[in-house]
Amino acid sequence: MPFNLDVHDRAVYREPAPIARDDPFESMMERFDVAAKILELNPGFYEYLCRPARMHITSIPVEMDSGRVKVFEGYRVIHNNVLGPSKGGIRFAPDVTLNEVKALAAWMTWKCALVNVPFGGAKGGVVCPPSEMSADELERLTRRYTADLFDVFGPDKDIPAPDMNTNEQIMAWILDTYSMHARQTENAVVTGKPVGLGGSLGRREATGRGVMTVTMAAMERLGLAPGDCTVAVQGFGNVGSIAAELLADQGCTVVAVSDITGGYYNGKGLDIKKMQTYVQENGGTLEGYPDAEQITNEELLTLDADVLVPAAKEDQIDEEIAEDTGARIIVEGANGPTLPEADTVLRDKGVLVIPDILANAGGVTVSYFEWVQDRQGYFWTEERVNQRLDRMMQDAFAKVYETAEKHDVSLRIGAYVMGVRKVAEALRLRGIYA
Ligand code: GLU
Repeated sequence: MPFNLDVHDRAVYREPAPIARDDPFESMMERFDVAAKILELNPGFYEYLCRPARMHITSIPVEMDSGRVKVFEGYRVIHNNVLGPSKGGIRFAPDVTLNEVKALAAWMTWKCALVNVPFGGAKGGVVCPPSEMSADELERLTRRYTADLFDVFGPDKDIPAPDMNTNEQIMAWILDTYSMHARQTENAVVTGKPVGLGGSLGRREATGRGVMTVTMAAMERLGLAPGDCTVAVQGFGNVGSIAAELLADQGCTVVAVSDITGGYYNGKGLDIKKMQTYVQENGGTLEGYPDAEQITNEELLTLDADVLVPAAKEDQIDEEIAEDTGARIIVEGANGPTLPEADTVLRDKGVLVIPDILANAGGVTVSYFEWVQDRQGYFWTEERVNQRLDRMMQDAFAKVYETAEKHDVSLRIGAYVMGVRKVAEALRLRGIYA
């Protein structure tokens, strides 16, 4: 049966909900709907693929350093596991919501399918203020969350990784807690862990490296030389700082970066390595960095830089920012930084947007390499990791570009078409178990 629903008929399948402009799940669905129409997706498959397979909500009691017990809410959403065990990071943030985690889990499904790694999609979140918690409190929170979800996680079931405000140390606590319950060391249960515990060389840099690789591929398509391009990067965490460093290594002039303390601009080019050292030595932020002019977040997003890399969080580029931005290429290091209505403005302006599910897929690609290495007990050199990552990102970029051209749509819709098609085809082959 062909897919012939009007977008407004979605209520047939989904609970009608008021459309909040900053609802990431709605942002995901708007693009999914366009891809579903192009693919003439079977309506039953539509219904299946837009819903998460399972959602886990847990109350996590933690004894704080003061001795008082506090209870935090934790989530793990398994969006889909048709292609393999589900995969996706865990974020700790005071404002994380179940709806956001649902969207992020679905994005992981399309992302993994798109870059051809044999995983489904998942995401986790814990509502907590990580910057106000001690390392001991974070350890107790992580361990209890892992113990609560022991039956959900597993190297062949669901494999977490870092995301916003979680890091290698937190992955090490997940590995240890899971292994204690399993009564054996299971290093493939989590990725993004320290190299000394079976982590992969190159994993920490992988998302930023993938951003650089697809930016180079986009410049080549547009006939731009890196040496002639200026770059602005929003966010100076694991993704933004590495992307900025690697783009500068390629010859681009990085004129602006930002973090939670605001934007930093230098028209002659910023010294990214010096800024990374400054952050390490000055309490983790760029506050007071001397060789730059302070600018606002909005000024950074609307600069006349050739390339804009939003690598902070969701919902940063709305219609107005899209109207005002001077960028020719936008490379989405973050998940969901652009609102659907901004997509239209950017396409009309001829801005090439490399969508999140392609641009930031380097992280999960090297997570896959890490999982493969753990299971084989055989570890690769960093050169081998980087070469394979570059090749997979370049291949994915080329295929998304071709798909978008074929259907005369944006790279984002091209990417969704590829991801959804792959999962739908696997679902057709597997069939629905009665
Ligand atoms: N959190 C990262 C992402 O959003 C990485 C996920 C993973 O490696 O499983 O893609």
